[in-house]
Amino acid sequence: MKVCGILVAAGAGTRLQAGMNKALTPLGGEPLFLYALRALRPFCDHMILVVREGESGLFEDALRAAHQGPVHLATGGQERRHSVENGLKEVPGDTDIVLIHDAARPFPGPSLIRRVIQGAAAYGAAVPALPVKDTLRRQEAGLTRTLSREGVFQVQTPQGFQRDLILRAYAHSPRSLTDDAGLVELLGETVSLSEGDARNFKITTQEDKKMAEMMVSGASRTGTGFDVHRLVPGRALILGGVVIPHGTGLLGHSDADAALHALCDALLGACALGDIGQHFPDSKEEYRGIPSLKLLEKTRQIMTDSGFCPLQCDLTIVAQKPMLAPHIPAMRKNIAQALGLREEKVSVKATTTEGLGFEGREEGISAQAVAMVRETA
Ligand code: MG
Repeated sequence: MKVCGILVAAGAGTRLQAGMNKALTPLGGEPLFLYALRALRPFCDHMILVVREGESGLFEDALRAAHQGPVHLATGGQERRHSVENGLKEVPGDTDIVLIHDAARPFPGPSLIRRVIQGAAAYGAAVPALPVKDTLRRQEAGLTRTLSREGVFQVQTPQGFQRDLILRAYAHSPRSLTDDAGLVELLGETVSLSEGDARNFKITTQEDKKMAEMMVSGASRTGTGFDVHRLVPGRALILGGVVIPHGTGLLGHSDADAALHALCDALLGACALGDIGQHFPDSKEEYRGIPSLKLLEKTRQIMTDSGFCPLQCDLTIVAQKPMLAPHIPAMRKNIAQALGLREEKVSVKATTTEGLGFEGREEGISAQAVAMVRETA
């Protein structure tokens, strides 16, 4: 089943901060739209980002800095409807399910996204919805009266649709509605509800923004990792995914990249998801000689599936020789790419033990890592 995500980031955000596209306003030091993009991406074979005219350069810079691989940019229109329509034009023909999401909702969790995809596949259209919890009152002629909240739902995004259905809905109706499911209903089709999540709220006001900042900083967890490999002749020395010219290299079942192994363990540790040996046992032939950058990518996938995303990391490599400083920028880049982070969130340091211990005697190299992750579900 092929899924295409359309992330709508073309709103003006006038209620939040005058003069700036809301999707570009910073949250936890990063442009807001990146949160939703990172959340949707693992579920999408193709990703379309709809941006305001004249702002594609700003979005492209942000995507590049955060190592967010291929994203197709589309230009937004006057109203949300036009923006989605422009995004729909870019959906590949072999797509089964289209997910349409507002960039102003930074926290769609993996289980919510899965439910929407499954609902859309089964019923044609699915939207995440939450029963209204507060009592509702309506103002009429200066007076207010209580409304029944029985059977009343708040609707969120991403909304999921079978491709043909959403294309038909947009072709059929020239009207603008506040969501896409409404247009599907105008065709006489039914929209199924999947369970929403209160954390998947929309940032509209400054208050919402403060809540989001609290979520980003409050839901973080920390883990540590440590690894050692023996130095032997006849092996390549690979650290942080960089091949370093040296007379000896690290011995191991994989490429024995102790730095990345420590990092994988720190990430898994922060999520309490076990360790690298459990996930990638050296008894398995498929991991023989595997580049550890692949293991790091797999670790990120395991985290995503379990509802976590990496925030930042710090690594220390302990080696008497060779001099590692010239290779550190390339290591940071490799790690940032594998984790979808900006390089400023990835720290790599190297030190010696002044000749003491096994590292000092050049019998082996050790590495320590600390990682911070955020709960996404
Ligand atoms: Mg190891």
